[in-house]
Amino acid sequence: MKRMTTTLTTLILIAALGATMLSLTIQSAPNLRATLSQILIIIAMAGLILLAALGRRRGRTEAEGEGRGAFGKCTQPSCTFSDVAANEQALQSLEALRDYLICPDKYVRYGARMPKGVLLYGPPGTGKTLLARALAGEAGVPFYALSGSDFVEKYVGVGASRVRALFKKARKTGRCVIFIDEIDAMGKRRDDSASDERDQTLNALLSEMSGFYTGDGIIVIAATNRMEALDPALLRPGRFDRQIEVGLPDRAQRLSILKLHSRGKPLNTDVNLEELAAQTVSFSGASLENLLNEAALAAAERDNGGIDVRDLQQAFYRAVAGADRGMIATEHERRIIAVHESGHAVASYWLSPENRLARVSILPAGHGAAGYNLCVPQERIMVEKRHLESQIQVLLAGRAAEQLISGDDALTAGASSDLARATELAAAMVMELGMWDEPSVSLKALGRYCGAGAGAAESCKALLHRQYEQVKALLSTHMEAVLALSEALLETESMEGNAVEKIIAAHLSIERPDSA
Ligand code: ADP
Ligand code: ZN
Ligand code: MG
Repeated sequence: MKRMTTTLTTLILIAALGATMLSLTIQSAPNLRATLSQILIIIAMAGLILLAALGRRRGRTEAEGEGRGAFGKCTQPSCTFSDVAANEQALQSLEALRDYLICPDKYVRYGARMPKGVLLYGPPGTGKTLLARALAGEAGVPFYALSGSDFVEKYVGVGASRVRALFKKARKTGRCVIFIDEIDAMGKRRDDSASDERDQTLNALLSEMSGFYTGDGIIVIAATNRMEALDPALLRPGRFDRQIEVGLPDRAQRLSILKLHSRGKPLNTDVNLEELAAQTVSFSGASLENLLNEAALAAAERDNGGIDVRDLQQAFYRAVAGADRGMIATEHERRIIAVHESGHAVASYWLSPENRLARVSILPAGHGAAGYNLCVPQERIMVEKRHLESQIQVLLAGRAAEQLISGDDALTAGASSDLARATELAAAMVMELGMWDEPSVSLKALGRYCGAGAGAAESCKALLHRQYEQVKALLSTHMEAVLALSEALLETESMEGNAVEKIIAAHLSIERPDSA
């Protein structure tokens, strides 16, 4: 019950505050467990506040023990921003930091306060470590690298003293980049017996971070694949208050990564990198780099002058066969994901024009998400009934689009988290907000005195059913827009909100009334 309340409050907050919502599509049945920990990312004005609303998964710490020997190792990276392809937005954010690292005094003179911590988040292999190293390389400052799991020790206090020792060393060095990989290992609970240790380590990190000043020229960069597992305390202002998403590359970005890594590799003229980029859906930068390297190895073994198409195809199939099945969607699955996400996007375009659609993507976003709609709601002090209804419809629109296009028997597990969230909103409307048939009654409060309100579940179902029928009707009316957008998504995989809105607007069967 308590968990439920937190969730409801969270959802209401999302609608009420300036919030960013990721509506996620959970990939397939084996990932069903992942639906239990949804990702809700809320952008308040000060930055990102992360709420892992439902039961936080207590995962095993990956890469345990890794990097223990290299603890707090200091290097001077030679790579620069030119070694990073794609990730334009991340690079842009880091460029300002480079300038600061080169000359922190300038920022002191202008009384500017730099972010102390930057958090890079995204799936593995997307270049987070590379970006951090490139920043240090660009600025020509030392790079301290360590992993969150270095700090998780059996003995209370060891992690904390390691943190203090590291910062002491870094302060002596002066300008530098401190990189903490897998910060989720430090920022989350491993098991209850270790919580003391974890808290101490985390507290030591936070207090060290609050102890340095703009003039120090020290930037802490942290990376995680599991944003939703982080302790929200890490993301507060003055901590890791700048968050940069490092997502999987889309088709055009894959091409630029392939081009970058084929420098210095003798590709035969029959090799078409554009085709390869189209083929390598859901590959990360690291897997693309690895693919080219495998092909080069095969070519070297054969040793007749160049890397040819066969080498690349072989490497491709090996990579796909060896890949985590969950990461590579089949053509059929991609189509369903595209339809599902298009449903969300069209419903959101029509029903909540005041919310800004930031991006629609059919690339996995980590944590079992097969695709996502990133939507930045307008800031609001009061949530109205119609906003909640629209929100429910937008959440249900993915499933509605699937049902309209594939029929009842082809429904997928992809909508599970959408359904859960829509149901939670509906329950809040019925139980707490008096937004069903009794505008003057809080069934929840009443339940505390008179036992649970009979029929509340039926009311929730009726409410959801009505919203579902409405959004289905809406999508049937604008089916052409749904289909056009899903085609475009299959082609480009990831689209900016503006481009999405253009396609929808061009295919609406009637024009959107100027509302909001
Ligand atoms: P992460 O830290 O996100 O898991 P890494 O930074 O360790 O990923 O990436 C591993 C390797 O993959 C890099 O060293 C680089 O060779 C390649 N790579 C990943 N992303 C990119 C990119 N955007 N541009 C160029 N190379 C990349
Ligand atoms: Zn969805
Ligand atoms: Mg890394």
